[in-house]
Amino acid sequence: MPLTDPILVWDVDDVLNDLTIEWLRAERPGDSGLYESLRDPRLHLGLGIDEQDYLASLDNFRLNGGFEAMEPRPDVLSWFREHGDRARHVALTSTPLRTAPVSATWVMRHFGRWIRTFHVVPSTRPDDDAPALDPDKEHALRFLALGSVMIDDRPENLDGARRAGLEAIRFPRPWNGGGNPRTALAQLTDMIRGASTTYTPEKDPA
Ligand SMILES: [Mg+2]
Repeated sequence: MPLTDPILVWDVDDVLNDLTIEWLRAERPGDSGLYESLRDPRLHLGLGIDEQDYLASLDNFRLNGGFEAMEPRPDVLSWFREHGDRARHVALTSTPLRTAPVSATWVMRHFGRWIRTFHVVPSTRPDDDAPALDPDKEHALRFLALGSVMIDDRPENLDGARRAGLEAIRFPRPWNGGGNPRTALAQLTDMIRGASTTYTPEKDPA
């Protein structure tokens, strides 16, 4: 059943971009089979490294030009070009507060034509004492009280979105069962079939 006035909530890392692939390319060049072998969402386990070391390396990549230099996923960008005008779009990302400015800039630079709202659920880091506010994306969605569909690669986020009353689309990655991203995007297209967010003055309650 297509949605009317859909609001799509997009994860950023490993959905709008290929963060893990790009980070592996920088950190583990030559280890081409590693990405496909990451079958556990706790990626540090598949990488065989300590979680804090993994997060520190990822943050270092984010803060030293790696994130900024990433291109959007071509298939996702094409999807926005073809279908983006039929829905409203929100970016909902879990990233440390110190890397959020880089992420927000990247999202607005590449997807700002469609994504007008950026929300961050800070990932905890040992030296960050900022208030948590929301422990996870589920609680952020409940606080924001918006969203029709969430597109995410983390199983726990998809489960949380469903509990918050949204539809959930799994963006295929090795750590969530894999598959073809084209299928996920087609599913999304189907959900917003016929919808339109084109502004018309007669619909304006003011
Ligand atoms: Mg993600």
